[in-house]
Formats: sequence, structure tokens, C-alpha cells
Amino acid sequence: MSRVALITGAASGIGAAVARRLAAGGADCVLVDRDAEGVERVGKEVGGVWVVGDVSSEETSVRAVALANERYGRLDLVHLNAGTNGGVDFSAFDAERYRTVMGINADSVVYGVAAALPLLKSSGGGSIVVTSSMAGLVGFGPDPIYSMSKHAVIGLVRALVEPLAAAGVRIGAVCPGFTDTPLIAPAKDFLLAAGLPMMTADEVAEAVDGLFRDESSGTVLVVQSGMEPTPYRHA
Ligand code: NAD
Repeated sequence: MSRVALITGAASGIGAAVARRLAAGGADCVLVDRDAEGVERVGKEVGGVWVVGDVSSEETSVRAVALANERYGRLDLVHLNAGTNGGVDFSAFDAERYRTVMGINADSVVYGVAAALPLLKSSGGGSIVVTSSMAGLVGFGPDPIYSMSKHAVIGLVRALVEPLAAAGVRIGAVCPGFTDTPLIAPAKDFLLAAGLPMMTADEVAEAVDGLFRDESSGTVLVVQSGMEPTPYRHA
């Protein structure tokens, strides 16, 4: 029986690479993104189904899990990956932008786990992987609220490992460093000029696929490039 995967932020970058990789391995994919054109394009490419919606709204997760159940009758793998960078500047604080970033990067993970759990359990268990970031492990000064949101989801993952294990559901996080996707396009020239390596979305997808393997019990997996795992590197 083929595995059924739900992937958020699947229209682009890391999420699209994960969808392609899982589909190539035989999984049926349910994709979620607010980019209607992009998610349709990737959805057709991987032979899956898709939901257009904003992951910061609980209803989007509920709809996506309902679609997985309706089309495939089960759910095995969940990649909660959609995210945005922060752009919250404390010298001109914007409370609305702050709530938006936390909604997309953190609330969406809570809603995704809550919506997916019943179907994962009734499918006999399964695996959830959250895309955090190196910025979820060390303080990332250029984007503090992004860094906060990515720390928050690691806290949730760590706390859920034990309670979910009892139900046969594994949960882990992947923490990429700089990865060559549209998200960091504005910083790409700077990174290249600084000689910092960037990973490809496919490399991150490989790591996610690794966490999804039946033999995997990993919780937080770091796939690092260009960001030292120490808060003191600027000292
Ligand atoms: P990306 O911009 O290529 O893809 C992000 C996708 O998420 C897009 O398709 C976008 O439409 C979707 N999305 C954003 N907000 C959404 C919302 N509210 N509702 C539904 N969909 C939404 O970027 P990416 O680099 O592939 O990012 C994927 C994840 O990886 C993010 O969580 C990001 O924080 C994380 N990450 C990226 C890097 C990097 O350097 N690119 C490093 C570490 C972590």
C-alpha cells in the first residue's frame, strides 16, 4: 500500500522538492499552499491533490487532512514546512507583521499537528517533520521574530516526542541553514559574495525523507550551511 503524505508550503523551494522526492518514492501527495498557481503546477507534476489556503488559519489544515482522508483514506507522513521570513524591525515595530509571522511559522505547526493526529493514529501511526531552521537553534540577529518562531516549533517538537510516541506517531524537525530558494533570494548576492555555501532544496528534501524512513527515530536534524551553531560567532 502506498504511503500518503501531506506537505505544506509545497508550491516552491523545499516543500516542492519534498513532494517530488516522496512522489518519486511512490507516495500519494496532498499539497498545501497559498500560491494557487504554484501548488496546482507541483500537484499535477507529482500526480497528487492540493489545497489552496493560508496555513495560519486552522481551517486550512482541517481541509487538507479531510482531503487526504476522502481521496486516499489514510495519512502516514506530514511535512509542516510552510514559512516566511520575518522582516520585523524593532526600530519601527509592526505588531500586525509580528502576528503574521508567528501565525505562518508557529501557529500553522500547532494547527497542522492537531488536524493530522486523528488520521495518523487511525492509519496505524506515522511521522511528522517540521521545517525549523538553524535560526531555531541559535539567535539569528538579522531576523529576531523569525528566529523566535523557529525556536518555538522546536520546543513543540521536543515536547511532543514522548506523548506522540505512545500513539505510534514520530515527530521531528529539520533545521536547514541557508538554502537556495525564493525565500532568501534577496540575500543571495550577499551570501555568494561572502563565499557562504548554500544548500539546495533537494539536499534538504533528502534529509526530510531520511526522517520519514521507518527506521528513523530522529527528533531534531540539523542540515547546516553558512550559519555557525554558536551564538558567540560575532564576538
Ligand atoms: P519558499 O519561499 O521557496 O517556499 C515557501 C512556501 O510556503 C511558498 O510556496 C509559499 O507560498 C508558502 N507559504 C508561505 N506562507 C504561507 C501561508 N501563510 N499559507 C500557505 N503557504 C504559505 O521558501 P523555502 O526556503 O522553501 O521555505 C520552506 C521552509 O524552510 C520555511 O519554513 C522556511 O522558514 C524554512 N527555511 C528556509 C531556509 C532557506 O534558507 N531557504 C533556511 C531554513 C529554513
